Amino acid sequence: MRPPDRASERLTSTAAAIVVAAGSGERLGAGRPKAFVVVGGRPMVAWSLDAIAAAGIPRTVVAVPPGHGAAAEEALAAHADHFPLGLALVEGGATRSESVRNGLAAAPDAEAVLVHDAARPFAPSELFSATLAALHDADAAIAAARATDTIKEAGADGIVVRTLDRDRLWAIQTPQAFRATVLHRALEAGADVLAQATDDAWLVERAGGIVRVVESSPANFKVTTPHDLQVAESLLC
Ligand code: C5P
Repeated sequence: MRPPDRASERLTSTAAAIVVAAGSGERLGAGRPKAFVVVGGRPMVAWSLDAIAAAGIPRTVVAVPPGHGAAAEEALAAHADHFPLGLALVEGGATRSESVRNGLAAAPDAEAVLVHDAARPFAPSELFSATLAALHDADAAIAAARATDTIKEAGADGIVVRTLDRDRLWAIQTPQAFRATVLHRALEAGADVLAQATDDAWLVERAGGIVRVVESSPANFKVTTPHDLQVAESLLC
């Protein structure tokens, strides 16, 4: 990861992070929204807020589950001082893209936006800076780990159709950095398209934008299952 230059320092000072924390976390089965499950002694989302603040991002918007605003505000109050331009909470939507859209509306003058899953507590601050810096020649720059498994495509009948070239495959993570105008335009897609988006960069790709991968580590995994939570707990305690 290269050191920040003047252009990326300027981009950082005009950037906002949107942390999507509005998922229900059904697959985790923890009985509360995943982002607020305690891991390593703190709500999961707190780890990401630390990394974003350490990267010098001056403002952050967290999309929280509808009906959990007051609890989220209490859980995150201690972080407000770490963001000179503010830490705002907005209500998330029914889909991930809607949560991003609500977050973006709360940072209307940001020139660059970093979207991050609250469910990835291991993203280092350098990764936020590196994705932002990689915007210099792209519309979006996304954290990604090289595929280590062989990936095959199979039909609904379980029969393998083809084996993909592993050297060109990446497992996509967050943070994902965007030029704000590009993300605004991408999120104007219809509700059916937004509902299909498992990441935000896909919306930019389908609109013809240039999306660059920024190499990251598999350690930046997304906490999805009870097993992931056990692993995260053992790494953070
Ligand atoms: O469900 P999944 O693990 O893919 O969610 C990825 C991230 O998106 C999580 O941090 C989750 O809280 C967030 N999300 C959201 N609003 C939704 C669905 C997911 O903010 N409606």
